[in-house]
Amino acid sequence: MPKLQTNCENYCRLGYGLSAGLPRNYCVPMVMQIEQHRLIEALQVNSPNQSERPSTAIINLLVIHNISLPPGEFGTGYVRQLFCNELDCSIHPDFAGLTGLKVSSHLLIERNGGLIQFVAFDQKAWHAGISEFCGIKDCNDFSIGIELEGTDSETFTDEQYKSLKDSTRVLIKHYPGLHAGRIVGHSDIAPGRKTDPGPCFDWQRYLDAL
Ligand SMILES: [Zn+2]
Repeated sequence: MPKLQTNCENYCRLGYGLSAGLPRNYCVPMVMQIEQHRLIEALQVNSPNQSERPSTAIINLLVIHNISLPPGEFGTGYVRQLFCNELDCSIHPDFAGLTGLKVSSHLLIERNGGLIQFVAFDQKAWHAGISEFCGIKDCNDFSIGIELEGTDSETFTDEQYKSLKDSTRVLIKHYPGLHAGRIVGHSDIAPGRKTDPGPCFDWQRYLDAL
């Protein structure tokens, strides 16, 4: 085992010295961490659109979504504003239907793989709306919602798949009710009403990586 010499702040927090014959900032695979129901690797931005889960609720469902504002434009910051009730809906015609909408998700994964957490996992984020899974309604009560910045008609980035895989792994490890068989798309729990994450989301790639 090479001697630990330095910290890698950006990636894995571990680094090994040249004397071990390894690059100075050689990184081990990153393992994300959850502390107090927050993902340490995510930028924490508080959304007011949250509430307590029912006292009997067990977190046992992961819901995958996509979102972009305006649709198909990335990196605008408008999704973050929407989730914080700070979006000026008068600035773009596509935003008119969002006026007064109060929504959020636990996580947003941006195109570069960056993670933003809006709601602690033990709290209810408002991502699923009218929904049902295995005969149980109101999936927000017992689910964690992850939004991928994207659309139904565009492929997601390698960085997004990596962040999604890494965050899913730590969620499954941390919440015993979650496992690979309890991961669905928004379209699965709100059929006819929602289509995301859409046909361009590669479920096989995602689930095989877990
Ligand atoms: Zn959705």
